[in-house]
Amino acid sequence: MHNEKAECGALSPYLKKIGEYLDDYLLFKHPDAMNHALSWQRVLGGELPETGLGIDALLKDMGQYLIPNGSQIPKPGCTSFITTGASTIGVLASLSGSVAAPQRLGLTAFNYLEALSLEWMAELFELPQGMQGVYTSGGSTANLIALGAARQAAFETIGIDVAEDGVQKTCRIYCSAAAHRTIHRAAAALGLGRSSVVDIPVDEQGCLCPIALEQQLEADSNKNFVAIAIVANAGTTDSGSIDPLRVIGELAHQFGIWYHIDGAYGLPGILDPSVRPLFDGLVLADSVIVDPHKWLGAPIGIGAAYVRNRSLLERAFSQGSAHYLEGSFTEIKANDDYYNHDKTTSSMDSMGTPYSDYGLELSAPSRGAVVWAIIREIGKEGLTERVCRHNAMARKVADLANNHPNLEVAQKPTLSICCFRYVSDNGFDLNELNRQIHRQMVLNGRNIPSTTLINGKLVIRPCFVGARTSWKQAQTLVDEVIELGDLITSK
Ligand SMILES: *Cc1c(COP(=O)(O)O)cnc(C)c1O
Repeated sequence: MHNEKAECGALSPYLKKIGEYLDDYLLFKHPDAMNHALSWQRVLGGELPETGLGIDALLKDMGQYLIPNGSQIPKPGCTSFITTGASTIGVLASLSGSVAAPQRLGLTAFNYLEALSLEWMAELFELPQGMQGVYTSGGSTANLIALGAARQAAFETIGIDVAEDGVQKTCRIYCSAAAHRTIHRAAAALGLGRSSVVDIPVDEQGCLCPIALEQQLEADSNKNFVAIAIVANAGTTDSGSIDPLRVIGELAHQFGIWYHIDGAYGLPGILDPSVRPLFDGLVLADSVIVDPHKWLGAPIGIGAAYVRNRSLLERAFSQGSAHYLEGSFTEIKANDDYYNHDKTTSSMDSMGTPYSDYGLELSAPSRGAVVWAIIREIGKEGLTERVCRHNAMARKVADLANNHPNLEVAQKPTLSICCFRYVSDNGFDLNELNRQIHRQMVLNGRNIPSTTLINGKLVIRPCFVGARTSWKQAQTLVDEVIELGDLITSK
């Protein structure tokens, strides 16, 4: 039965139910979704419903068939890729925004926190003084926006407004061979072309070789390229390596090229005193990105891009004027003091900071309140504790591996990733052996790392970033690799 009351009725009875289902999910006692896909597909699937099921029956299906067949990703033992479940406060703040401030625009407390949380993160991660940010849907879009700013700046120096007139020259972006492939996709989307991205070789540790970069820049300097950006990694996705940020930044300045630092994963690493010195050179960046939905434990859909001057973003991404906005607002101008109580009498008086002109999204959720809540809940101290714990876990895995005759560390950990593998001298194809070990770990579902290739070796790659991922997961993961490796090689 269609239940009109429930469609826009009180939330709390339903939130209580959903909360119970979700808490039950977080005990991780359910079998993997694909163990019994037919059973939930039968209930959840079917034809387009002609008549509605009603909220009560629907909620029951969600509790029984949808939520229990969610993802392995929020599990404490899931250390795959660089992704994790949201922390409790992240979920609650996100939900609050979706109800109370469905758009980030307007002069609301949520909009106020959009700016404040971006400033807090800039301070927390020691970004260059005065950098200004914008939230994005994640690191992919953040890279696109930062490189869009770089593109705008590079073309303006040769007298072209690229946002208006398009890309009319052959361009170059320089990044390390270990850079995230969203750099290449951004180049494609920005009309520069994937072939404009030059992959500079990395050393044994996965860090960009500055000498190779310098040679490339020299070789290109008398060609008619428009150099858009040099991209450095503050934590590569494969192994958490941090490029020599200062040396690369100095090269960027010397050659007059925009300096972009991709810290989607690794930027919070600066909170760990033992790796903080590696972030020296951050101060030279023209743009930096970070993903609160990785190490900060925000729900997925929250990235951030920072540049030195957002007016450049506005020139690169403004959507221009729109009829439907004419006359909607009072005379408050962009960059006025929006929260000046004398001038402003209604939250509908202004859009507030025109974030929609700094990126790709017009409609966008209130992400700032989520980041604000996460930082405010546990403070710099709590986040530092989390980052240090995860980095120490990667080093612990390396120690355990170094002390075991059948384990080998492929790359010394920098942040919270440790790439290692099981080795045996009984003529096994080691890539195949480690693939089998990993496969069995995924099926067992207790410790779920991912794999990657390091200098041609297929390795087991745990990345510890989850708020729920605690110290003991380092040990259980290594134990399971040993156990499975021993088992497979003894057959
Ligand atoms: C994860 C990651 C990205 C992509 O971010 P999404 O939020 O997944 O879009 C970009 N760069 C690096 C270094 C990353 O680790």
